[in-house]
Amino acid sequence: MAANHSPMLASYFITFFIVVPWATALPDEILRQNIGKILRTDLGSTSIASADYGNLVQETPSAVFYPSTVDEVISLIKLSNNLSTPFSIAARGRGHSVRGQAMAGDGVVVEMASLAGNGIRVRVSWNPALGFFADVGGEQTWIDVLKTTLEHGLAPVSWTDYLYLTVGGTLSNGGISGQSFLHGPQISNVHELDVITGTGEFMTCSKDMNSELFFAVLGGLGQFGIIVRARILLHKAPSRAKWVRLIYNDFSKFTRDQEYLISSGNINGPDYVEGSLITDNSPPNNWRSSFYSSLNQSKISSLLKSNQGLLYSIEVVKYYDDLTANTIDEELETMGKDLEFVSGFIFKKDVPVIDFLSRVAIGDNHNSEAHPWLNLFVPKSTILDFNDAVFAHIIRRHNHTTSGPILFYPFNRIKWDDRTSAVIPEEEIFYTLGLLHSCVPDEVEIYEKLNNEILEFCEKSGIKIKQYLPHYKSKEDWVKHFGSKWDSFQEMKTKFDPRMILSPGQRIFNSI
Ligand code: FAD
Repeated sequence: MAANHSPMLASYFITFFIVVPWATALPDEILRQNIGKILRTDLGSTSIASADYGNLVQETPSAVFYPSTVDEVISLIKLSNNLSTPFSIAARGRGHSVRGQAMAGDGVVVEMASLAGNGIRVRVSWNPALGFFADVGGEQTWIDVLKTTLEHGLAPVSWTDYLYLTVGGTLSNGGISGQSFLHGPQISNVHELDVITGTGEFMTCSKDMNSELFFAVLGGLGQFGIIVRARILLHKAPSRAKWVRLIYNDFSKFTRDQEYLISSGNINGPDYVEGSLITDNSPPNNWRSSFYSSLNQSKISSLLKSNQGLLYSIEVVKYYDDLTANTIDEELETMGKDLEFVSGFIFKKDVPVIDFLSRVAIGDNHNSEAHPWLNLFVPKSTILDFNDAVFAHIIRRHNHTTSGPILFYPFNRIKWDDRTSAVIPEEEIFYTLGLLHSCVPDEVEIYEKLNNEILEFCEKSGIKIKQYLPHYKSKEDWVKHFGSKWDSFQEMKTKFDPRMILSPGQRIFNSI
């Protein structure tokens, strides 16, 4: 998967000159140097690039770029830089953002998937310093990384719940899931990156080489460069997973047990811990998971009725293989013996690891739905107040409108590298809240009101939350979000994308 980045292609654009007759929306400068077949302005291309999973924002680009080599991406960025008024450029992984973060109104969207052609750019290697690792194209989806590495008996250690996201897209945010408490987010498990900066320079970077760029790009919301390769740490892949769900009717017990499970003192502890709420509109089985039999669903529904429509659930997984098959049940027993879930409300499955890791599917009707999601990180010291106000009151009051999974589970700060651009609360343990609403487009306002009510409550009560997959409208809010990281974030922008070309859909440097 050697990157083809020798100096080329000012001439390429001219050689493959095809004037697209409907290209009138393109800036004249681009038209004059038309990039031919790989730059398209037809409605089919631009309408895909003006939408995303959220269905909340629409920004139409002037054109969509379909590169088949890294050099073509370099040339596009350089072309923009050479103009007196550059056009903006957004890498689009699979457009699984919810608020237009991968869009570029009037600019050019780079469809990263086309870099792979029809192939899979994942190469597994070993060296004495790093052990096993995979060199993966930034456009690759995690499901392809999983399938390819499993062929070698290996796998990455840190995942997202849903695997049809791209490596470049999740590394630009963080990449979190139930393994993050143990291994850190995906951005903590990268050895090296190839990045094309906002000036069109191809740079390889790591903790020791061009480290400023490396840390800026990880969690950097696409602001400093386009990731075209990531070197990802691999471990021996486990073969099977003991997958357990526990139901709680008491928030303190639910969070105490989650914190016990993620604590380092828990030797032989789990490989994965997540938690969620169960309400009438956020039932135990949902698009993220169909774990329960109908009998168990009815059992949980009865408990839900007797608990004023609010229950909590811990999802915990321990991996095993042939070597540990004889001891895994005993280990699970030991791990769970002090947990305080509702008696009789423990549910178990035993599945191949690939089935567990690829458990989340999003269904067919997501294109017609809107997804006004809210993802937050909440400091541990404030979770009781958060539960009282947000879960027991605000969400319950909106119960007729909430719809979709509500995730709530903890991380250990020590597993995050503070040198990255990712922003997390100051405390050693913090929780992630994922309000993964789905609704018909007409109802978006109701959900935005709910989200705003939660944000306003946190603001008023001094709960120092941080948004994950952040979305702000004003510069002031971004400065507050980044806090002590803002100055260096801004400095890195000046250094690596001085003309502010990249990922305008995040609305950081182009906000008011
Ligand atoms: P896009 O949405 O296309 O892009 C996201 C941002 O990154 C944009 O600003 C874009 O310009 C930039 N970008 C894209 N590719 C590159 C690149 N190669 N180099 C530099 N910048 C780039 N997140 C989690 O952490 N954990 C989860 O479990 C999880 N589950 C999800 C489930 C679903 C159903 C959905 C819709 C999202 C989920 N997410 C999760 C959020 C996900 O991480 C983000 O949507 C993320 O943006 C990845 O999506 P994408 O690859 O399609 O990137």
